Amino acid sequence: MQTIEQTNKNGVQEKWSKRPLIISGPCSAETEEQVIETATRLADTGKVDVLRAGIWKPRTRPGSFEGIGAKGLPWLQKAKKLTGLPTAVEVATGKQVENALHFDVDILWIGARTTVNPFSVQDVADALKGVKVPVLIKNPINPDLELWTGAVERVAKAGIEQIGLIHRGFSSYGNTEYRNAPMWHLAIEMKRRNPDMLLINDPSHICGRRDILLDVSQQAIDLDFDGLMIETHIDPDKAWSDASQQITPEQLASLLGEIIWRKEDINSEEYHSVLEKMRQQINQLDDELMQLLGQRMKVAETIGTYKKENNITILQTKRWNEILERAAKKGERFGLSKEFIIKYFDAVHMESITHQNKVFNS
Ligand code: PEP
Ligand code: MN
Repeated sequence: MQTIEQTNKNGVQEKWSKRPLIISGPCSAETEEQVIETATRLADTGKVDVLRAGIWKPRTRPGSFEGIGAKGLPWLQKAKKLTGLPTAVEVATGKQVENALHFDVDILWIGARTTVNPFSVQDVADALKGVKVPVLIKNPINPDLELWTGAVERVAKAGIEQIGLIHRGFSSYGNTEYRNAPMWHLAIEMKRRNPDMLLINDPSHICGRRDILLDVSQQAIDLDFDGLMIETHIDPDKAWSDASQQITPEQLASLLGEIIWRKEDINSEEYHSVLEKMRQQINQLDDELMQLLGQRMKVAETIGTYKKENNITILQTKRWNEILERAAKKGERFGLSKEFIIKYFDAVHMESITHQNKVFNS
């Protein structure tokens, strides 16, 4: 069993309070050489605090690479010895907790596919009883704060004192520009409920691609997140999992160099004021609303194509009345006045018709 002294020796206690806390490493440990080279190159940047690697990988479909398993744990131990970087690993079962601790892993994290399942979280929590190890809990894949909170409570009840949160975005219906929609307001609400808990952002799993990693990282820092977890690989295109979102250690260093860590034109007191945070929340919600409206217009265009091909008129009064009635009823439940709903839907409807007209005339 790992003691607090052991974790202290690895510098984890200090790291836990460092801001920003930067966690990086491959999605999956693949070979000993890959783990050691990644760790060494990350350590050389001087910008990374913790080395992460997936050892057991929960995959949507069987047949994909499901992780190297416990045989990768000594590689991490060796990487730690060579670089001094504390290590972090995802655990989904009690057995994995035992294995990871046996090989001196410093920080454990619960993955998004585990947080959704109270049986699995409880199994992990039971194995954590009497152990002093920091645990990070990723948000569940579906946008449900109660599940996330439930996982935090189970781990806390097991006696774990150092608990942190990782925001990695949420599955959402339809294609968005993200692999997992950030739904920032949920992370902000979770921080409001747990103001003293470490909150890390995972842009890699939010983006699923490299080109928007910087934007999402900056967004997180602007929202006062405590740190970032970003996947890195020595040869990203050849990674055995999540190839399209990984970057090299050197690219990570330049990404971190490009982030503006504090906006200079905003004085820090005001920036941290409650008002400023609420304004950020409003901006986020507005951005998400616009993204959804954009998606709605795309659907309207597809319907436009169908109408054109089948010689149906653009405006169908019956359907329009149906939409309005439904919206007025729903809106009431959310505290929105009927007048507002009518004005709002009129505007949305006009925009839809403009989009469909374009389709008709193309
Ligand atoms: C990961 O960090 O590699 C991972 C599997 O993430 P998530 O649980 O967020 O999908
Ligand atoms: Mn991954």
